[in-house]
Amino acid sequence: MVASLLPDPAAPAPALLVGQGLPAFEAITPKQVRLHIPELLASLNGELGSLEASLEQALASGAPLGWEAVMDPLHHLGERLRWSWGVVSHLNGVCNGTELREAHASQQAPVVAFGNRAGQSGVLYRALQRLQAQGGLDGTQQRILAAELRAMELRGVGLEGESQAAFNAASQELAELSTRFGNQVLDATNAWTLRLTDPAEVEGLPESLKGLLAEAARQAGDQQASAASGPRLVGLDFPRYGPFLQHSQRRDLRERLYRAHISRASGVGEGGSDNGPLIERILTLRQEQAHRLGYANWAEVSLASKMAGSEAEVERLLEDLRQAAFPAAQRELDELRACAAGAKAAEASDLQPWDVSFWAERLRQERFDLDSEALRPWFPLPRVLDGLFGLCDRLFGIRIVAADGEAPIWQADVRFFRVHDASSGQALAAFYLDPYSRPGSKRGGAWMDECLVRQLSPDGKPVLPVAYLVCNQSPPVGDTPSLMTFGEVETLFHEFGHGLHHMLTTVERPQAAGINNVEWDAVELPSQFMENWCYDRATLLGMARHWQSGEPLPESEFDKLLAARTFLGGAATLRQVHLALTDLKLHSLWRPGLDQSPEQLRRQIATTTTVLAPLPEDAMLCSFSHIFAGGYSAGYYSYKWAEVLSADAFSAFEEVGLDNEESIQATGRRFRDTVLSEGGSRHPAEVFASFRGRSASPEALIRHTGLARTP
Ligand SMILES: [Zn+2]
Repeated sequence: MVASLLPDPAAPAPALLVGQGLPAFEAITPKQVRLHIPELLASLNGELGSLEASLEQALASGAPLGWEAVMDPLHHLGERLRWSWGVVSHLNGVCNGTELREAHASQQAPVVAFGNRAGQSGVLYRALQRLQAQGGLDGTQQRILAAELRAMELRGVGLEGESQAAFNAASQELAELSTRFGNQVLDATNAWTLRLTDPAEVEGLPESLKGLLAEAARQAGDQQASAASGPRLVGLDFPRYGPFLQHSQRRDLRERLYRAHISRASGVGEGGSDNGPLIERILTLRQEQAHRLGYANWAEVSLASKMAGSEAEVERLLEDLRQAAFPAAQRELDELRACAAGAKAAEASDLQPWDVSFWAERLRQERFDLDSEALRPWFPLPRVLDGLFGLCDRLFGIRIVAADGEAPIWQADVRFFRVHDASSGQALAAFYLDPYSRPGSKRGGAWMDECLVRQLSPDGKPVLPVAYLVCNQSPPVGDTPSLMTFGEVETLFHEFGHGLHHMLTTVERPQAAGINNVEWDAVELPSQFMENWCYDRATLLGMARHWQSGEPLPESEFDKLLAARTFLGGAATLRQVHLALTDLKLHSLWRPGLDQSPEQLRRQIATTTTVLAPLPEDAMLCSFSHIFAGGYSAGYYSYKWAEVLSADAFSAFEEVGLDNEESIQATGRRFRDTVLSEGGSRHPAEVFASFRGRSASPEALIRHTGLARTP
């Protein structure tokens, strides 16, 4: 019926097109995505056309252009798309299903096309250049404008004709390839399972893991499955994979699991998808894009908008870390072999990658008597949240209160919280917390994303920032709350650091508020900074209480955590250097026709950045989603780069004395007023210097990792 296609002026906007406020998640369906995203894009395209026409006129008349005439309307167009498409992308990450995934994929190309159109608009580009040339802008505006102009240049605004058409086609193809890459990793992770029915197969596994494996078996249809008697289903998602490798005494099962994990999405097995060809295609397309833009390679394109000045500067840092880490990693491997020799000589003389986690856990127990599983009862999620919120109050002067039921959610386990200034009581922000792993429907890993960004709405009302905080920790089992490993606690603190950056911003211009306009390699500063507090005596002992008895974590356990912090620090650092250097070289050295596959290049890099050579079937690149499905291409080094900043920032607290309450609070407020407040309004080196009083030094990171050279 034709009439049903006409908008009814009295009808409320569909949930997906509201464009402001908290999204009504449950009202958003795959069908709406297919229906309303094209509708939204049509409307935005029309408005962009009108804006371009008015700017064309203004440019021709020679009249001065105001920020309000260019940047504000541009922001409002972008914000409407960010709001709607942001909800779809969020749901695709936390409630992934075939229908939604297909609906998301079907709209990706037109969304990218709209971004390209705005980003390649010659009129807009000339208007921004005019705005820049006129002068009279404050520092924040100048940075926003410079970043916008550079972003447009990187989107090919300077290209013409065939060259621009080819650039656009490659952008679209890259977006589709990235989505396919990520989905194939998720599918490959979910496709592989190992059903265990023999009690001997689970000997030595902690109860929490047995419970999780039985729960997985129940979800797969084994109604009778129980933690005590099985059957149990092992899988490749991290909450099952990680602990199984650490604890399983069955070397043969560890090997099967490990081999399946490293060959995910590499075409191994029946009907298995292969990300290998996608990798070459992605790298080839990126290199062609770089050439079109006038850069030598994709690494140069990436670094154009980073805090790091050049590839050489990044390599210098990685080489410093590599030199400190390599001998340490070799010593650590010898220590694992020695540990295995005491118990199982066969494994010691032939230590394999699937043995490393297992013996590392044994050595950890032997040396620190620290069983990471045994600490779970001291970290029930509710207490950990109390500790985290208390710390934020102490350091930054903010109050966090539960507000469940006050906001729509997408899943029954999701929590909602509000953030207030502790002294004035003023509302500052809010956030969602989606803590638990949901294999099959939720993307792995942990992340923070923006739900609402601090800004003034078109009607002039202030919008407070709202964050999505997503983790993948073990869910509650029966009456037992989610009992976290110490690693999961660190992950929560990490993501919360991103959340604080997003939520405590005081920048009024949304383009530079919170994490916006913060260089990629500096954006992990607040998150990694927060992880340090998990090792602070007052913070940790204040929150770690046994979920049943309420007893605090014994001091001796805390001391072990401290000692264990630098345990295998060489291997961990070396692994990050390996990934960062591989990423960088794939995007600067590799090119089609090089006579060396990306995997071969990786293996060449591995000769100086691993101490246990990758197995022949190790296809880690095929599941390296960070650089092929995420935004980290030629930017994986950013983790280490930002860690230099975060370790050095934390050392400011160490310098005043971690038990010097007055100084800690003063330093915390200064951190809030600089790093957390100024967002992308200033260059990260300036923001850092205004907090620290000097530029950053890697000394604190090398010391915290236990790699400091002894004189
Ligand atoms: Zn992070």
